[in-house]
Amino acid sequence: MQSIYNLDEEELLEYCLNHNGKKYQAKELISWLYDKKITSFDQITNLSKEMKKNLTQDFCLQTVEVSTVERSKDVCKYLFKLPDHQYIEAVLMIHDYGLSLCLSSQVGCNMGCKFCESGRRKKVRNLTTGEMVEQILLASKDIGKRISHVVVMGIGEPFDNYDNICKMIKIINHDKGLNIGARHITVSTCGLVPKIKEFARFPYQVNLAVSLHAADDKLREELMPIAKVYSLKELFDALKEYLKITNRRLSFEYILLDGVNDREQDAMNLVHLVKGMNAYINLIPYNETTHLQFKRSKTIQIARFYDILKKNGICVTIRREFGGKISAACGQLRSQKEGL
Ligand code: SAH
Repeated sequence: MQSIYNLDEEELLEYCLNHNGKKYQAKELISWLYDKKITSFDQITNLSKEMKKNLTQDFCLQTVEVSTVERSKDVCKYLFKLPDHQYIEAVLMIHDYGLSLCLSSQVGCNMGCKFCESGRRKKVRNLTTGEMVEQILLASKDIGKRISHVVVMGIGEPFDNYDNICKMIKIINHDKGLNIGARHITVSTCGLVPKIKEFARFPYQVNLAVSLHAADDKLREELMPIAKVYSLKELFDALKEYLKITNRRLSFEYILLDGVNDREQDAMNLVHLVKGMNAYINLIPYNETTHLQFKRSKTIQIARFYDILKKNGICVTIRREFGGKISAACGQLRSQKEGL
């Protein structure tokens, strides 16, 4: 039986019409599912008995379960269990401007970035649209508050699960449902060039973040296998096209790895690469993981790197850290749970 959260408005409408329902009932159903967050179709008061029976026969209202939650003052880290006994994770961050959920897009990841815990383990499968939507519903229920921001930066490469991601965005953006503003949704990619071009034409004003981590081809190829497929020149041509079409600001993620990509020369390469673009750089202090040998840059080196960018007129921030103490880095909780 399939999850009802896989269906967008058009599909719910089609279902209603095929089951002697009315056109307006699709929107009502969306409000019951995402605003009132029903746990049984019987809780719906304005649908016929017949329709509720059909819905109960045809759809699940919950397929994902909360396995464990680690809590600290401003962050909750969820380990979710999927129907096929796979595990994924999501991190809820409590900001002064609202609640932001970092969710997973795949079980595992095939991109193989050398510093990343998820990349160390291969992709098992894509998440369905419903499984991504449910991460938001479950975290929101757990904390008892509305989630206002979503970032697709958990386990997986979202652009390797492109269609399901786009459908998920459509569903969580719906104004009768979760109503999460497109400008409050960010998708992060390691740089799948054809999908960046496609995303430029996706008709929602979603933010795009690109994991850069190196500003020259040689180093980037050592850290990120995807760089062997798409050179920085190809990546930046696609990003310039994206900026031209969308008129939106891009963000770049740059993890600082001790002695690897945090030298003065690396900062200068980065300046030359992004200078003049409508973009800002998010410097990420590396979250060390037991299985991988990379170390976080020294605090003084992070400050130096930041200063070089700043002095050269680049918009730059150092990412505030939420997850470090509770192993909230991209797949670490999943690996602990599975003992792998
Ligand atoms: N595949 C996508 C999204 C998931 S990774 C992407 O590559 O953008 C989200 C971000 O976390 C990426 O920038 C990734 O490089 C970074 N990341 C991975 N492991 C990390 C770690 N141990 N510490 C800090 N950031 C990490």
